[in-house]
Amino acid sequence: MALQGELTMKFPELDSRQSCLIRVAEAERKKFEKLLFQRHPAQEWGSFFRFGYRQTPWGLAATFIKALPPMAGELDRQSSIVSFRPQYIARAVKELENTPFGIGIAHSHPQGWGVSPSPSDDDMDEYFADLFGSFGGGRPYCSLILNRGQDGELVFSGRSFHAGKWIPVTEFITPNFPYSRVRNAELKAPRSANLESAGEPGESLTARLEELYGSDAAAKLQASRVGIIGCSGTGSPAIECLARAGVGEFFIVDYQRFGRSNLERIHGSRFEHAKQSPMPYKVELMAAMIWEINPQATITAFVGNILDDEVVNELLRCDLLLGCTDTHHGRAALSDLATRFLLPAIDVGVMLEGSEGKVNSQLIEVTRYAPELPCAFCSGSVNTWPLKVECMTETERAQRIEAAAEAAKRGEDGTLYWGGDVPQLPTVGFLTTNAGSLVAGYAINWLAGSSDLPHSRFQFDIGQPEFGFAVINRKRSATCACGKIVGHGDQGDAAISKPPHWPRAMKLSLLSKAQ
Ligand SMILES: [Zn+2]
Ligand SMILES: [Zn+2]
Repeated sequence: MALQGELTMKFPELDSRQSCLIRVAEAERKKFEKLLFQRHPAQEWGSFFRFGYRQTPWGLAATFIKALPPMAGELDRQSSIVSFRPQYIARAVKELENTPFGIGIAHSHPQGWGVSPSPSDDDMDEYFADLFGSFGGGRPYCSLILNRGQDGELVFSGRSFHAGKWIPVTEFITPNFPYSRVRNAELKAPRSANLESAGEPGESLTARLEELYGSDAAAKLQASRVGIIGCSGTGSPAIECLARAGVGEFFIVDYQRFGRSNLERIHGSRFEHAKQSPMPYKVELMAAMIWEINPQATITAFVGNILDDEVVNELLRCDLLLGCTDTHHGRAALSDLATRFLLPAIDVGVMLEGSEGKVNSQLIEVTRYAPELPCAFCSGSVNTWPLKVECMTETERAQRIEAAAEAAKRGEDGTLYWGGDVPQLPTVGFLTTNAGSLVAGYAINWLAGSSDLPHSRFQFDIGQPEFGFAVINRKRSATCACGKIVGHGDQGDAAISKPPHWPRAMKLSLLSKAQ
């Protein structure tokens, strides 16, 4: 691409300690590719695009919102390369002034020309980073070059100007099924966590999985980053299955320490843990379990909650999140990350009910969250009152109960102040293990690209004829904002935020024996 009056200076070195991940939902990606490759294979074409973002300590989590396609005359059609005319640039600047989003540029290269930036691409990027930075009050800028490989597959390179530095756009992610994470063709491949123990003879540790899914799938799982929120009944068996399947990188989050009654359902826990004082954090048990199975796995562990900013920063590096908390705020947060940051998730919950020695419900419910799906509020997965109770201070709780009692004395409706206790649902290990291993299976298939979930939300009861299987239909509510903030990142309003009285998350420094 070119600009009149070329500057031709040496382009600054990219800061490889930081990275930018860009997520593009499949429907938008298809439209964008059609636009950019309209003169392919012989000639280039380009477009501005709008993106949401979050600045994190590791770099930039960017989300493609939509293309701002050139209108007639805004790009020079006579030129075989992309040449932005002043009126198109003025329109992009206006976008910056009228919205909180970042503006980026993408252009295609002719087939066979690779994705290396040309000297005029360099000039262009420096010019736009500077121009958009000053009109956007320091907002990041993003530039992508797209091409087709020999088999027609997408090849890309990219860089982003963020916090005064040029950083590489390392991955171009399509968070739909089949999941795709294309790596910047200009960068060297990273070292992947390898389940093979060096120098040990014998068959591959994931040989049976490879037989079924192919060696490609095994490599994909090794390169996968999975976040598991909640490391108890459903989270721990899910983690165990994922570790055994060779998933390379784990982000584990749980604020609790192990407790004696947890021995009945937490995988990786032993009798000796119940004797320790203080008892270990659940995430510590998970880290030890993962490393016993795969000493090469990389683990980031937080004693904390999904609503913590520092936790979210790290979760945004994941390919997939598993919601294993069975809480209303947990589901609200998962669906919010799926909507605003295009980060897909699978949530699982169980419900056991019984009385007088008889069990009458042994239910498992699975819900997928994704940018194209209705949020947790639209889906009815979050109820306002229990959500409020989960996020309340002890003082507020006491005040509300007292106010309700006072109101009742006056003959008024006390439920305006206190909607009743939210019972903690009892769970048992066999059912949580079933639920956790089930979602691990869906996650493995999803990451390997071998199969999608059968429905976006469903439940079944293992004690009912035909398992009482039910599909729960979901529809976006016309009054909910979720459909309007897809990909908006930090520039969209969060559906839920951390209650101020909750403690800050603590990142544990853990070391595998192999490291
Ligand atoms: Zn170019
Ligand atoms: Zn919604």
